[in-house]
Amino acid sequence: MRRSALGGPQPATSATLSNVPVSVRDPFRLRGPAPAAVPRHRNPGSGPGTSRRSADAPGQPRRPPRRPAARIQRERGPRATLSAMLQPPLAVRRRAPSACVGAFFALLLTALPLPGALAAQAAQAAQAAEATEATEDAGASPLERILALGRDDNRVQDHLRVLTQELGPRLTSSSNLERAERWCRDRFASWGLDARLEQYDEWAVGFDRGTSSGRMVAPEERELTFITRAWSRGTDGPVRGPAVLEPESLDEMDTWAAGVGGAWVVQRARARGEQLPRDLRRAIRAATDAAGVLGTIRSGSRDGRLVMSGRAPGSMDELPETVAITLHTDDCADLVARLGRGEPVELEFNIDNRFRRGPIPLHNVLADIRGTEFPDEFVLVQAHLDSWDGAEGACDNGTGVATTLEAARLLALAGVRPRRTIRFVLYSGEEQGLHGSRGYVREHADELEHTSVVLNHDNGTKYLAGIGATEAMRADFEWVFAPVRSLDAGRPFEIRAVEGLRPGPSDHAPFVRAGVPGFHWSQSNEGYRRVHHTQHDVFAAADSADQQHSALVAAIAAYRFASLDGLVDRTFMAVPEARKMGVYLAGTEIQRVLAGKAQDAGWQVGDVVLAIDGTAVETQAELVSALQAGGPRKVVSLRRGGATIESVLDYTDDPAEVEREARRKHFEERAQLGDGPETEDDEG
Ligand SMILES: [Zn+2]
Repeated sequence: MRRSALGGPQPATSATLSNVPVSVRDPFRLRGPAPAAVPRHRNPGSGPGTSRRSADAPGQPRRPPRRPAARIQRERGPRATLSAMLQPPLAVRRRAPSACVGAFFALLLTALPLPGALAAQAAQAAQAAEATEATEDAGASPLERILALGRDDNRVQDHLRVLTQELGPRLTSSSNLERAERWCRDRFASWGLDARLEQYDEWAVGFDRGTSSGRMVAPEERELTFITRAWSRGTDGPVRGPAVLEPESLDEMDTWAAGVGGAWVVQRARARGEQLPRDLRRAIRAATDAAGVLGTIRSGSRDGRLVMSGRAPGSMDELPETVAITLHTDDCADLVARLGRGEPVELEFNIDNRFRRGPIPLHNVLADIRGTEFPDEFVLVQAHLDSWDGAEGACDNGTGVATTLEAARLLALAGVRPRRTIRFVLYSGEEQGLHGSRGYVREHADELEHTSVVLNHDNGTKYLAGIGATEAMRADFEWVFAPVRSLDAGRPFEIRAVEGLRPGPSDHAPFVRAGVPGFHWSQSNEGYRRVHHTQHDVFAAADSADQQHSALVAAIAAYRFASLDGLVDRTFMAVPEARKMGVYLAGTEIQRVLAGKAQDAGWQVGDVVLAIDGTAVETQAELVSALQAGGPRKVVSLRRGGATIESVLDYTDDPAEVEREARRKHFEERAQLGDGPETEDDEG
């Protein structure tokens, strides 16, 4: 089977893409006044009278009338205003200080990455400008303009289609990723944002994946479905050789190793989780390295997925010697069966994987809508632009990039003037260990104290369905998300109460660890396993309606967070340490007792926990949650042998309990001051 990793036409050459300069810190970037000496986190004691919505006043989050596209087209504003809307981005303006619209289009021809789409883009921009003017004419609030654009002129899937089908997968260190970074930067800039690439690191080796094909040539012709790992060696043209099953024991090792040179080594399919003994695995690896095998072939998942992975070599001296192939489970089972019954099998692979000598600069893409009142305070809307390269990187994480781009476009075209700076960030290196976001946190350490909130989209294509907020954040979050809740009855939004923020699995984690409120949107993971890091992660897997909704949610959230009077409240943001018993459990039965509370209380292996503080527990999850709830002195009912006994686990003097108690008191006092969540009526 021929597989194209690029999945579509190549974008323009890098020569035309490089017209806008890359800089670590853009020296032309306008700098605002120095930040306020003390960040204005919301005063925990502030009462409900605090106004948090001056940016929207007097417009309230009421649903604007739906505006058919045809009507928008007819409502053409004055020409001068249209030209103003089409002002060139900052980077282009610098080159042509006297740019008129005509000169601007001439410049665009050299500066935009996809000249073929130019006419369509210009038409889109004009249409969006008209839509904006139309709503402005009607005296709409910024929020109403965002809503109108998000509903009637939402381009999120256009961005995703270019990202996935024209630019292709975006492995960190690949030329594809570099093209995508420049394309995203130029998109942001085309909407008037201050956009740039920011280098945070460099790698010694780059990797570009071309097309690949593979087939069985004997005893019969048959196409094979497979992927190669990222940073796997290629074949340098078609390479043919016999297939050989790996040995089953160390006894066979010497004979096997003598005949394996120039062969494709096939792993035996094993039951899930079952591995060869470690010494045998090591011996096989040593023999394959020494014998000069063509490559190794292992089976994909039994459900048909080909799951991507791979590790970037640290230098050009450490490039892998062999090709690493993951073969579709059906093809692999057939191969193993043939070899098992002694059939000679010949395979041919043609894999165009290429290494590039570094240094390969690693970038994040940054784009700002500058704050009017607090330019040095930030609301971050972010996603990772890099992907694995087994498909198109659509749901991981083209979807998050597309909503981030579209949120920027909606806010820019709605003409918002946020109080604090809204910064859109697209990271690289996420899949290999959050390199981009860790780099950002390192490079922007001086801004973290003034970074109000970080909104990270990296959880597939299902609509943004909620966010977890602490008690201290709740009132602000209720206000921020009030318009989101009335967007679409079929797509509800929940603000979950959480005890504290946890780092989690994506680019918000380095921020949370640095004490910045960082959030990963809640999304249903239905269907995500099938596409996540697999050959199925293509444009068609993304849900258009959900994507449009999510882009609008991100835009509204960014604007409203940037409109609050203060920064998001960080009081008691860290998760207090959980109460531990010091036992291993199987369900609610004690399997092992370690040093700790349970041992102090005389618990024994075989004891079964029946209830905590009178609440019956039947599962481990119920047990754990009952233990964490309520006061620090826990009365536990245990069944031991035939008897039921009572036992007390006392956490009163633990440092975590002191903090819990301080929290409880703090929020109790705040509640008495009337700083509870606002209701819908408060919004009117
Ligand atoms: Zn991801």
